[in-house]
Amino acid sequence: MPRSPMIAPEISVVIPLFNEQENLVELHERLTAALDQQDHSAEIVLVDDGSNDLTPRLLQVLAANDRRVVAVHLSRNFGHQAAVTAGIDRARGDAVIVMDADLQDPPELIGRFLELWREGNDVVYAVRQRRKEGPAKRAAYALFYRLLEALSEHPIPRDAGDFCLMDRRVVEAMKSMPERVRFVRGLRAYVGFRQIGVAYDRPARAAGISKYTLSKLFRLALDGLVSFGGRPLRLVTYLGLISAAMAFGLTFWVVLDAVWSQTAPRGWASLIIVILFMGSVQLLSLGIVGEYLRLIFLEAKGRPSYIVKEPRLNPARRISVGIQVRKAS
Ligand code: UDP
Ligand code: MG
Repeated sequence: MPRSPMIAPEISVVIPLFNEQENLVELHERLTAALDQQDHSAEIVLVDDGSNDLTPRLLQVLAANDRRVVAVHLSRNFGHQAAVTAGIDRARGDAVIVMDADLQDPPELIGRFLELWREGNDVVYAVRQRRKEGPAKRAAYALFYRLLEALSEHPIPRDAGDFCLMDRRVVEAMKSMPERVRFVRGLRAYVGFRQIGVAYDRPARAAGISKYTLSKLFRLALDGLVSFGGRPLRLVTYLGLISAAMAFGLTFWVVLDAVWSQTAPRGWASLIIVILFMGSVQLLSLGIVGEYLRLIFLEAKGRPSYIVKEPRLNPARRISVGIQVRKAS
């Protein structure tokens, strides 16, 4: 049962929120119901990722009424992965559970997570069996997960999202990785330890619209693909080799044709095809190299992944602090 706030709770539930006013109350109800069934003390770390609806206000109300709730406000919208990172950094539990706010990750699964954790697993991640989303989004996800599997050097389990439980030692290992562009499920797969998947049917979002716009989703996919190994770069090399081989074969044919049959002037169509093909291979390759360059650039700047908006000091307090400082010196 709840321990005093000074002692770290046994489990932390980290939830990123971006404009989730419609889901927050039901989420809190279902989550606390699920947590109450467990014999562990818990905290709920709610990270407001720069929402511009009533989410921050609701968060304050929840935090005032439930001692388990810890509210973290980011100074603007930093994106899902950064918000999850902020929550993980703030979490104090021996086990940290990450889930979405829209009830697509059912809180009722937490009991099973904890069971598997107590059995000695360090990471318990949920694997989506069926999705209740539109066919276009489903197809995009399927393509993304298969690409990720093919291209990353460290296997990231297919159809495993961010919904998971991590033991404290996994969390510490993840925190020790310095990169700023955080692809959380990739880092989680990278650290190792004992990992196990739990299959579940992913329901549709409870209320509101997806906070992942197509461009945000595309960016996440690119970051995920590029930040986990250099295989896409190697792909560029292969593409170059293949087109060089084709160019060589073509040259051979052109020379032979010029010497023997002299039919050279025809073939405008094939010429255009070759030009277009070479152009697109070059652009694609440049794009992939550019993606790596972008990541290196972002990491080189060394900016934090997120900024927490700490409460403002009120002027009266600021003056008294000032006096204290002056007295002390
Ligand atoms: N989210 C966030 N910042 C963003 C976008 C989303 O914190 O910029 C949160 C959102 O509130 C939700 C979770 O990330 O809790 C997953 O987002 P969403 O459900 O919209 O994504 P989808 O399930 O459609 O992929
Ligand atoms: Mg969702």
